[in-house]
Amino acid sequence: MSTGYYAFHQHFGHDTGEDHPEQASRITALEEVLKATGVWDKLIIHEGKSAHLPDILRAHSKAYVDQLHLIQPEHGTILVDDDTPMSSGTLEAALHSVGTTTQALDDVLNGVHRNAFAAIRPPGHHAERKKSMGFCFFNNSAIAALRAADVHHMQRIAILDFDAHQGNGTIDILQNDQRFLLLSAFQHPFYPYTHYEQNKYTNLINVHLPQGADGEIFRKGVIEQWEPALRRFAPEVIIVSAGFDAHRCDPMAELNFEDRDFLWISEWINDYCLKRRIPWLAVLEGGYNLKAFGTSATLFIAGMLAQEPTQQSETTN
Ligand SMILES: [Zn+2]
Repeated sequence: MSTGYYAFHQHFGHDTGEDHPEQASRITALEEVLKATGVWDKLIIHEGKSAHLPDILRAHSKAYVDQLHLIQPEHGTILVDDDTPMSSGTLEAALHSVGTTTQALDDVLNGVHRNAFAAIRPPGHHAERKKSMGFCFFNNSAIAALRAADVHHMQRIAILDFDAHQGNGTIDILQNDQRFLLLSAFQHPFYPYTHYEQNKYTNLINVHLPQGADGEIFRKGVIEQWEPALRRFAPEVIIVSAGFDAHRCDPMAELNFEDRDFLWISEWINDYCLKRRIPWLAVLEGGYNLKAFGTSATLFIAGMLAQEPTQQSETTN
């Protein structure tokens, strides 16, 4: 069984301006490293599609979606919040982010691929039901999770988020819905300061990473906090909000992950899924130092390719 890679050219129309960290060159940087390392040749490449509106409306209000269409500028850029620019091509890109994510979801759930990586932008995990923020407009991972439940009739869907920032939007949309288990690891306290504390929600596990935390602290949190919750929940599919801004070179957070930590988490998830024969999907979130991002995301994708469990740390059950 293969690994699918999904991307689309319409993201170039989402122009965030020269000085913004979330820019089109991120995807270019990733694909350059994928090709230079030979990983690209091992993937099945797909051109992404635009979204179906009903998928978006499971996660966002109609009024919110309508408002985004009304405010999109014909020329130049506007700021939707302090750090979220919108240009004339933003909605087309955001709709392709959603459509490409759901396309990748459908493919892994229909057995086309064992797992898949959606290289999309704009990202999604900060987008709440009625609010754009943190570079995000539509919550791609939450939309995929709701489609898995409503269209594919999955009853237990786990969402793992290792972006350096808490995925407040995903929690806003999926909170206290027992079909979904939300496992998150992020710098705390830090942006978005939304105070989604796990003792207030029935389906949320937070791993707090203090400023300066390295990959060892992250790995410990995953094994001690994520893994037992994942085993109890026994998901039928895993959706990963894959952010790479916990890297020590990233300008948008204050964590100290190395390249190899992103290979480790990919292998950890892949091993878990291989042993239980469950499909998984990774959806791109952050990662802003182009060199560090290209290398770490390539290692992550390389980790998805393994057909046999690769780690010794996990015991079977
Ligand atoms: Zn982030």
